[in-house]
Amino acid sequence: MVSICIIGSIHVDFIIRVPRIPSIGETILGEGFEIHPGGKGANQCIGVARLGVRASLVSRVGNDFLADMALKNLKTEDNVVLDYVSTVEGVHTGVAFILVDSSGDNIIAVAPGADMYVSRSDVDKVLKSIHGFKALLVQLEIPLDTVAYALEKFHEKDVLTILNPAPAVVLHESIYKYVDVLTPNSTELGILVGLDIGSLDDVIHASRKLLKAGVRIAVVTTLGANGAVVVTRNRVVHLPAFKVKAIDTTGAGDAFNAGLAVALTEGMGIIDAVLFANAVAALSTTKMGAQEGLPRRDDVEDFIKRHGLS
Ligand code: ADP
Repeated sequence: MVSICIIGSIHVDFIIRVPRIPSIGETILGEGFEIHPGGKGANQCIGVARLGVRASLVSRVGNDFLADMALKNLKTEDNVVLDYVSTVEGVHTGVAFILVDSSGDNIIAVAPGADMYVSRSDVDKVLKSIHGFKALLVQLEIPLDTVAYALEKFHEKDVLTILNPAPAVVLHESIYKYVDVLTPNSTELGILVGLDIGSLDDVIHASRKLLKAGVRIAVVTTLGANGAVVVTRNRVVHLPAFKVKAIDTTGAGDAFNAGLAVALTEGMGIIDAVLFANAVAALSTTKMGAQEGLPRRDDVEDFIKRHGLS
């Protein structure tokens, strides 16, 4: 079975719905409270698994009650391999505290806890495994040193590498030569190149800078309801989003990355792969919850049949 390695975070998200975001020093009463398993690593891992590809997650959790909550969905998912998730003593499982106001805007604080212990030795362990990985999918909620090391080592083994640079920080240029496909959203793209991104031309200009810096195949920038832009050394293609009734766009980027990794792994070209990723992400916005909303393969195939993939 085809297999993808995901190295990234596992969190528990605590969400309070508030009428408005409180100011400093103010306390306000919330209107609802939810706990969701999350973290970009966990979300993308489940996204890949639901599309029918074996997904091995490399991550860490604390030795606490939060770990059970964080792993709940991962444990019940077929195709998820958790052999490379280990427990750190004396550190809490990663958490995010999120306030969402009535217009859907939010403020978020993340305490990464155990996520910050994902290390080079974790990468070495998974590389020794028997799974013939076809792709590596990694984000930036774990130490940068581990991300850079993983990209280099998987690249050396000729595994396709996808870096979802979220949340964005300015990266050392030397990392890019180990990245086959880079998948920022427009805000992240701006942070990576130190420019404001306001137009399609800005996206193209910034993407070309990153290709020049070393990105090997493509920079794929997601634009929310405007779809995604693929920039390679000789092509620029804007693929509009599928039209859906979006009710929760949390985790749309994670769904997109999972879809893209699966499609590329199965041999699709970059443009068809981004169309497939757009479909996976669009479907994910039609349900509440980042992990709950991740679609299954059959639903994606049906959706594509109904909407066309041309
Ligand atoms: P992130 O969640 O990382 O900020 P985006 O908001 O750019 O990422 O969304 C990722 C992808 O999700 C988009 O490229 C698009 O395919 C899909 N998407 C997001 N919002 C919508 C929407 N309202 N309708 C259809 N597709 C959407």
